[in-house]
Amino acid sequence: MVPIGAFAGGSGSLARLTEEEGRHFRVALRGAAGETVYVFDGEGTEWKGSVASVEPAGVAVRLGEQLADRVEPLLTTAVLQAVSRDESFEQAIEAMIPLGVTRIVPLVVERSAVPKPPDAKRLERWRRIAREAAKLSWRRVVPCIDDPLTIPALEERLACIAGESGPAAGGAEAAEVVSLLLDTRAGPGSLSRLLEGPAPRRVLIAVGPEGGFAPAEAERLAGAGFVSVSLGPRILRTRQAGAIALALVLGRWGDLG
Ligand code: SAM
Repeated sequence: MVPIGAFAGGSGSLARLTEEEGRHFRVALRGAAGETVYVFDGEGTEWKGSVASVEPAGVAVRLGEQLADRVEPLLTTAVLQAVSRDESFEQAIEAMIPLGVTRIVPLVVERSAVPKPPDAKRLERWRRIAREAAKLSWRRVVPCIDDPLTIPALEERLACIAGESGPAAGGAEAAEVVSLLLDTRAGPGSLSRLLEGPAPRRVLIAVGPEGGFAPAEAERLAGAGFVSVSLGPRILRTRQAGAIALALVLGRWGDLG
């Protein structure tokens, strides 16, 4: 990965890997000059190049050609994932990123079962996991992990989150946004029926914690336009539910499969 703006010089110019990435290449991978590498800026651009120099001060790549194929999904998705025990939230991030999620919003809810709301250190760790997962799945955009929100704060930010989740997809007749609340009590087949409709431009998916959303939280989400849908008759762990919903949504309305 390279910092934003590193491709400005175009073909033949040198781009420096980020410090973290350069150290990883040099120390963990024992990479050497002359190797062919693929470098991306996390904002959608990827180049093929060859390593020009490997120094403790940094790793430089001579840029060859920009890759023109499409990797990022046209349908943009934001998963509002209830915060839960650390490892569970981290596994949720790792599972959703290869599927193509655009944005993950950590939700601090009544049943989050964490001793204190996530702090800046925790957030940085999640963002590092997101960068790593994006790199391993050859994504060109690193999905944004938002600052954690409570449900009342989410209500205020919702229009912004729905609008900001990335470039819009879909035709002129497509609904702008479909907001889904994953709900173990929703009617069987509710998600499948909804997916038979035309693709919207954006999809928001709310996932509860291990204990589920409190009734008042579910009501507030419903009031904000979230439609309760089922993922089937079996109860999934919170770390799995968002990824499975994404797979179904991007399988039908996006480019998975
Ligand atoms: N007893 C809790 C309940 O009924 O809500 C179980 C919560 S489940 C372990 C964690 C979250 O994953 C749920 O709040 C929901 O958002 C989602 N989920 C899990 N299985 C689901 C299913 N079959 N249908 C819809 N959502 C599901």
